[in-house]
Amino acid sequence: MKEDIKSILAKEEWSRQDLVALLKTEGAERKLLIDKAAEVKDHYVGNKVYYRGLIEFSNLCAKNCLYCGIRTGNKNTGRYELTGEEVLEAARYAWENRFGSVVIQAGERSGKEYVRRVEQLLRQIKQMSNGELGITLSLGEQSEDTYRRWFEAGAHRYLLRIEVSNPALYHKYHPDNQLHDYQARLNALFLLRKVGYQVGSGVMIGLPFQTTEDLADDLLFFRAHDIDMVGMGPYIEHKDTPMYRYKEQLMPKMERFWLSLKMVAVLRILMKDINIAATTAMQAIDPNGREKSLQAGANIIMPNLTPVRYRDDYLLYEDKPCTDEDAEKCKRCLEVRIKMAGSEIGYGEWGDSKHFSKRKK
Ligand code: SAH
Ligand code: SF4
Repeated sequence: MKEDIKSILAKEEWSRQDLVALLKTEGAERKLLIDKAAEVKDHYVGNKVYYRGLIEFSNLCAKNCLYCGIRTGNKNTGRYELTGEEVLEAARYAWENRFGSVVIQAGERSGKEYVRRVEQLLRQIKQMSNGELGITLSLGEQSEDTYRRWFEAGAHRYLLRIEVSNPALYHKYHPDNQLHDYQARLNALFLLRKVGYQVGSGVMIGLPFQTTEDLADDLLFFRAHDIDMVGMGPYIEHKDTPMYRYKEQLMPKMERFWLSLKMVAVLRILMKDINIAATTAMQAIDPNGREKSLQAGANIIMPNLTPVRYRDDYLLYEDKPCTDEDAEKCKRCLEVRIKMAGSEIGYGEWGDSKHFSKRKK
C-alpha cells in the first residue's frame, strides 16, 4: 500500500482516482503526502508567508445560503457595517505594520450607493497608503461594471468561492432561486478574470452528502479554471441555519480538519505556483490549524483586523476563533506561531500569486 502512495506522489500527472487515493491517506501515508506538499511549496513558491489583514466590512447580506450564519434569514444576529473611518483605521494598521495587503470581506449586497461607497473606500485606502497596500475583495457576485469600477479604484485580487463545484450539490446548499444560481456564480469567476483581477476561489470541506470524489473534482475544477489563489476550509455547522439539521450526519470535526489539510496538500502538488490560504476555519477546529496548513502547502494568512466589538456578529460558523483579540495581540501571537512553523513573513510585500504573474507574461 505504501508503495502505491509513493508512486502516486512521484507522478507528474494525476487522475481523479489518484487524487481520491491521496485524499484518503491516513497515518504514515498522510505524512508522506504532507511532506511532499511542503517540498513542492518550498521549491515553487518558497518559504514566505504573506499577510492579508482581514477587514470584515459588514455582515449585511441579501443572500440566504443554507449553511451561513450571517444569511439574511438569520434574525438572531445584530447587523453592522463599519464606518469609512473604521475601515481606514484598520487599513492604516495593516499598512503601518507592513502587512502588505488587506482583504475586504462582507455579505453580498448591490445597489448604486453601496457600489459607490466601496469604490470610494478603495480610493481612500490607496491614497492613505501611497498606493502601497494591496487590496483583495470578497464581496460576492457583482456585475461586470461593478467589478471594473472596483478594479479601477485599486482592488487587484478577488475571492469568490464556488463553495462546491458539483452543481447538484450546490443546489442542495442554496435556495432554489435566481439569487443563488450556480451558473451565475461560475460566470462571475469569468468576469473577474476578464476585468483583470487575480482570481481566487475555494470550497467548503466535509459538507453533508459530499464525497471524496466530489472533493477530487473540486481540485480539478480549480485547475480547469486556472484559478490563481484558493481559500478552502472545513464546513462548520451553525445552529441558526437550515443545514444544522444534518448535524448528526457530519463527520467528526477532527476528520473534517484532516481532510481539509489533505486538500491543501494535494492542491499544492497539483497547482504548484498558486497562492493557498491557511483559513480561519482550520483554526476554529484546531488552535494550531493555520500553522499546520502552512506546513502542508499553504502560504497566505489573513489576520483579523475587524474592530473587536463587531467580531461576534460576523459569525459565519460556530466557534470562530480570535473574536476577542485585538490586532496587536493577534499579530504578536501569529508572528511567533509562524516562525515556529518554520516560515518567514513577507512583511511589506503584496505576495501576488506567482501563477498569475506567469500567465500575464
Ligand atoms: N458573501 C461573500 C463573502 C463572505 S462569506 C461570499 O459569499 O462570497 C465567505 C465564505 O465563508 C463563504 O464563501 C463560505 O465558503 C464561508 N462560509 C460560510 N458559512 C460557512 C460555514 N458554516 N462553515 C464554513 N465556511 C463557511
Ligand atoms: Fe451571504 Fe456569503 Fe453568507 Fe452566502 S456565504 S449568506 S453570500 S455572507
